[in-house]
Amino acid sequence: MADNKVELVCIACPVGCLMEVEQNGDEFIVTGNACKRGPEYAKAELTHPTRTLCTTVAIKNGFLNRVPVFTEDEIPKGLIFEAMDEINKIVVEAPVKVRQIVIENLLGTGINVVTTRSMSKKNS
Ligand code: SF4
Repeated sequence: MADNKVELVCIACPVGCLMEVEQNGDEFIVTGNACKRGPEYAKAELTHPTRTLCTTVAIKNGFLNRVPVFTEDEIPKGLIFEAMDEINKIVVEAPVKVRQIVIENLLGTGINVVTTRSMSKKNS
């Protein structure tokens, strides 16, 4: 494979097409994609890769010890570890509602971290 070609698995849907992407200046020539979302994903991945971060945060007095959260939108892939450091500092207090903001404007991205479920207090 030439230096300006890479293989990339499209993660825009569960099909997971294996694509070959050739860069020619600003142009990306993509093959192996089953639909037009493949080239869009390939270009974004090779120029400014982003991810939605799904994880959990500690919760005090909840009936479980942790509550699942996610970033409301994709954040730059390069910020994932820094984002996890911020999220790991957080302890929320039960009860929490679904879509409750636990971190506003994560790392200045303008994107909030929110809960993906509600959680009541544990019975005492
Ligand atoms: S190219 Fe289209 S069909 Fe293939 S994985 Fe991406 S979104 Fe799915």
